[in-house]
Amino acid sequence: MRAARIHEDLVLRLDDIEAPSPGPGEVLVRVHAAGVCGTDLHILDGMIKPDPYPMTLGHEAAGVVEAVGDGVRTPVGARVAIYNKIFCGRCEQCLKGRTNICDNEPDQLGFNRDGGDAEYAVIPEQNAVAVPDGVDLATASVLTCAGMTAMHATNLSGLRLGDTAVVDGIGGVGVLVVQAAAHAGARVLAIADSAEKLELAKSHGASAGVVLGEKGYESVADELRGLTDGRGADVFFELVGTTASMLAGIRSLAKGGRFVSTGYTDQSLEVHPIEFILPETIFVSTVAATRLDLQDALALAAAGALTVPVAASYPMDGIHDALDALRARSVLGRQVLELA
Ligand SMILES: [Zn+2]
Ligand SMILES: [Zn+2]
Repeated sequence: MRAARIHEDLVLRLDDIEAPSPGPGEVLVRVHAAGVCGTDLHILDGMIKPDPYPMTLGHEAAGVVEAVGDGVRTPVGARVAIYNKIFCGRCEQCLKGRTNICDNEPDQLGFNRDGGDAEYAVIPEQNAVAVPDGVDLATASVLTCAGMTAMHATNLSGLRLGDTAVVDGIGGVGVLVVQAAAHAGARVLAIADSAEKLELAKSHGASAGVVLGEKGYESVADELRGLTDGRGADVFFELVGTTASMLAGIRSLAKGGRFVSTGYTDQSLEVHPIEFILPETIFVSTVAATRLDLQDALALAAAGALTVPVAASYPMDGIHDALDALRARSVLGRQVLELA
């Protein structure tokens, strides 16, 4: 089969490798669609290191079960989205439903072990999540990262009806956080790095926002206060993760507001504690999402409440073009590889 694999020299190559076969408790998925994500750039840049190289890239895939190992109940032919976090199902965190931070299983498909940018993927059966009728596999693939992350961040943010929520960064995740927050009853403001992205956010539920100018985040907190009668926002979803963007987030919150840290770069958060002590700012951190969040995101998509703007579809050969476009920050919505 063909697979897009990152090698130790950090070059992504399309390799011909043997297709895997499912062991006990595993399913073989014929991958139909795989989302291309900003996190892939972190892997290409060596910030996230697979162990070992080479590794098939891709943590956002959906397809059809083609074969199953012993003890599997999922039928051949089932349409499934691949939950990319491996989890044990038995530890304290898993029993609490927090499969994203399982105590026993550090592995994540497409991060440190073979992922879904390939014709086939073998996964544990418990990572195959049924895709409801009416949800296409391209949408399902994107929900396995951006969609479930948006669900998880929104759930953990403590958002309440009537709150004002700011979504910083209208990329693949941001446009889904906008929808999830709007669906949860918030007035949503977006921070975008282009007028087109702000329009995209508005067409998915944002009511207003800020387009970053030459000065970047310098005036963002003031502008957001301007949009909230000086009060500030209840929730700031931080999907960008630079020093400047995080500071702007903390400074644009209302008293008792929640700073939701989801996106990151190689930059640090540097702030004097008095800035978050005096307003009693609450910090919330979210990493990916639970298996149940993915199930919920798929159900919301089936109900029409979450839509994925697919900016472009590529064959596997187009993966380099897709990643280049992502790096140039020129993508409106999400890019998907169509692999079957
Ligand atoms: Zn992703
Ligand atoms: Zn566990």
